Amino acid sequence: MSASDTTGRDGHALLRDPRFNKGSAFSEAERRRYGIEGLLPVGVATLDLQVARIHEELSNLDNDLQKYLLLSDLQARNETLFYAVLMGDPANFMPLVYTPTVGEACQKFDHIFRAPRGLYLPITAKGRLKELLGHWPEKDVRFIVVTDGERILGLGDLGVGGMGIPVGKLALYTACAGVPPQYCLPITLDVGTNTHTLLEDPLYLGLRQNRVRGAEYDAFIEEFVQAVQDLYPRCCIQWEDFANINAVPILERYRDKVCTYNDDIQGTAAVALAGMYGALRISGEKLTDQRFLFLGGGSAATGIAELISEAMALEGLDITAARGRNALFDINGLMVTSRTDLAGFQKPFAKDMPPIGNFVEAIKALKPTGIIGVSTVPKLFNQAVIEAMAEINDRPIIFPYSNPTSRSECTAEEAYTWSKGRAIFASGSPFPPVHLNGQTFIPGQGNNVYIFPALGMAVYATEAKRVTEAMFIVAAKAVAEQVDQQTLDSGLIYPPQSRMLATSLHVATRVAEYIFDQGLARVERPADIGALIRSRAYKPVYSD
Ligand code: NAD
Repeated sequence: MSASDTTGRDGHALLRDPRFNKGSAFSEAERRRYGIEGLLPVGVATLDLQVARIHEELSNLDNDLQKYLLLSDLQARNETLFYAVLMGDPANFMPLVYTPTVGEACQKFDHIFRAPRGLYLPITAKGRLKELLGHWPEKDVRFIVVTDGERILGLGDLGVGGMGIPVGKLALYTACAGVPPQYCLPITLDVGTNTHTLLEDPLYLGLRQNRVRGAEYDAFIEEFVQAVQDLYPRCCIQWEDFANINAVPILERYRDKVCTYNDDIQGTAAVALAGMYGALRISGEKLTDQRFLFLGGGSAATGIAELISEAMALEGLDITAARGRNALFDINGLMVTSRTDLAGFQKPFAKDMPPIGNFVEAIKALKPTGIIGVSTVPKLFNQAVIEAMAEINDRPIIFPYSNPTSRSECTAEEAYTWSKGRAIFASGSPFPPVHLNGQTFIPGQGNNVYIFPALGMAVYATEAKRVTEAMFIVAAKAVAEQVDQQTLDSGLIYPPQSRMLATSLHVATRVAEYIFDQGLARVERPADIGALIRSRAYKPVYSD
């Protein structure tokens, strides 16, 4: 019997290849075929039994970072089992492989480093990026999540430690929407770090220099995009956790040239819009009748405000009138036309009215139907704010989206209590159910995971040429469609996370339909687009 399998690997290497390794689930016949008898104990486990073993191991660990590391090691050892565990219970495993646990893993990256994953492209390799990209063993890459580590979650500049984010995010593309893992590539562009504690840490693994900026940085990004196009022409590049000063211009530069998007900007906006559509299903009102006031005027606020405006425009409003229904209030007060400190991307939302420095006063003056907190400052949606909203609205929309929980503009309990149970609430970080006057409210979490995996699945299955803003609007609507009446009755405006795969496949189907309608697909339109999506979705089962 030959000691090699159909992939040409010898048996010993097979046991160390996470894509093909089955560990104790190799059957007796396979063990004989691959020449691995004796390399495993004789017991043959099923995948279900292996999943149960992982659950037992996890239950014996007492902190989430340890659980993250156990899952990371599993991913490096047996990919099928890793995804079988995740996909069996996505709501419970997402916080372990992604936020919030991944934040701590990124901060401690250099101290817990083990099996490398993905590609590290240092700026010292400029001129040779294609060569380094070519070292990746898979030759058909369809999805790259790339960071330069400068703005990792709310944690700032973590240098190469940011790699945990592309790795974790891609795991969610697969676990939540079935994008096959073999097509996914996590990348960190190492351009240095400005974090002194990292530069002084003997264990730090990235370039020991300050961040490169300006023309040299831009040329590095350009070389990277070109190299990806050359090697993987059907690949979508998702930019992740870049600082705003780079994120916005990079997206502008490439969005019409290659298949690319930025989840922090576009995915965030889409999940907020999905929340709006969900909220409107409760209130029974129209999007074009809403007025939104944002606390915060940064990238999240302007991104959400712009996407809402475009969605309103699709429903018949003139785009200028639509933007006029979205107002921004930042650290210096309401954004009005007389202010001289507004950036170009903020100006479309500036009001032609006298300045207002107090948020409650702004609510009284503008009479918003919804307020959206993206200020990073906790507690600013105080009792006076919520009561002002409840006074002018029957069902005030209250979305404190700042992360993490400690920065949320208010808690779910505060919003429901101060509005006497009338708030339509969703937040950036999760809150437990609230019991008030005999009613139970389930707070929704505006988690980007409702959008990006599904969008990725649609792009992968259709081989889309571009990612357009309208695709995010389609995705947002499709998410809201997935909330059933019983769920809405409990106050929840997003679909339950336990049904993530089914939700994502529905959203992916809707987005794929749009991609075909717009002539952006590079594959032929099938009769049944839902069937196409389902047939392309990865399933965590062992193949013979
Ligand atoms: P940013 O730093 O670009 O913007 C913050 C804004 O808040 C700035 O305009 C600033 O002037 C304003 N601000 C600060 N202090 C203020 C104060 N006291 N009063 C009024 N305004 C104040 O940040 P960002 O990238 O826009 O992100 C903002 C928040 O949104 C973060 O907490 C982030 O976690 C959250 N966010 C949530 C989601 C989500 O839930 N899906 C997605 C992305 C971002």
